[in-house]
Amino acid sequence: MVTGRFAPSPTGPLHFGSLVAATASYLETKTQRGQWLVRIEDLDPPREQIGAIADILQTLETFGFEWDGEVMWQSERHEAYEAALAQLKSHGLLYRCTCSRKEIADSAIEGIEGAVYPGTCRHAQHQSGAWRVVTSDDAIGFDDAIQGRQSQNLSHDLGDFVLKRADGLYAYQLAVVVDDAEQGITQIVRGADLLSSTPRQIYLQRLLKLSTPHYAHVPIAVNAQGEKLSKQTLAQPLNAKNPGPDLWQALDFLGQHPPARLRDESLETLWHWAKAHWVLAHVPVRQTYLPI
Ligand code: GLU
Ligand code: ZN
Repeated sequence: MVTGRFAPSPTGPLHFGSLVAATASYLETKTQRGQWLVRIEDLDPPREQIGAIADILQTLETFGFEWDGEVMWQSERHEAYEAALAQLKSHGLLYRCTCSRKEIADSAIEGIEGAVYPGTCRHAQHQSGAWRVVTSDDAIGFDDAIQGRQSQNLSHDLGDFVLKRADGLYAYQLAVVVDDAEQGITQIVRGADLLSSTPRQIYLQRLLKLSTPHYAHVPIAVNAQGEKLSKQTLAQPLNAKNPGPDLWQALDFLGQHPPARLRDESLETLWHWAKAHWVLAHVPVRQTYLPI
């Protein structure tokens, strides 16, 4: 069964970028008669905004998304994350790290996401600190259905990465892999801001003997300064009172070229058109771009 998902973090209301990702994932799944699941990634309580979860689910409904089954909540999945950590530990693939950010920055070379962790604590046998996974010095490649062939060498590009922080919070990279497997996700369509996370996720899937879904990363909407549209950059909120034009805009952003006459049509008409005309290959092959 083709299974797709939308996995928002409740750090604020949905914005245009989230609508684009949700729309692409929904259409790519529904046009294959698959099931589309929603997962709330409430892993990091301090970064959550009160009311954001209810607001996100309400907005999805208002825009006409119909998800299958129950919503999964990452805050209820800690046992599964511990079990995955235990599995990795039993294979000697985890160790604890007590380095501060500054120590890492001072001793490391620049990688693709800041300093590469140089492996300082690999053999230190610390009894406290963050848990890191040992990376390997191999290329991890995959064919993204939109962005094409991607490859990373995790030990050169990032170094051993954190799966559970010293303060006990589970890392996104771990949770997403455990939960995509639990939900039987076969295709992941999401924003290209996560393209560079994918090799870490594939690596964890291999270590945990989980299957690897197909990936497609849609461009993310940026403002004129090239910044991702998010709460921090004060992106215009979606207009839940009149969702049609926002959905039309998302389809246009995704290269589907909805006819102008549909702009002010009902949501039902727009979705009907979108499902009949969706072509993943029409999504622009770019990682970011400016809407309008
Ligand atoms: N929760 C992540 C976010 O909102 C997305 C996770 C994913 O799609 O893999 O950025
Ligand atoms: Zn360390």
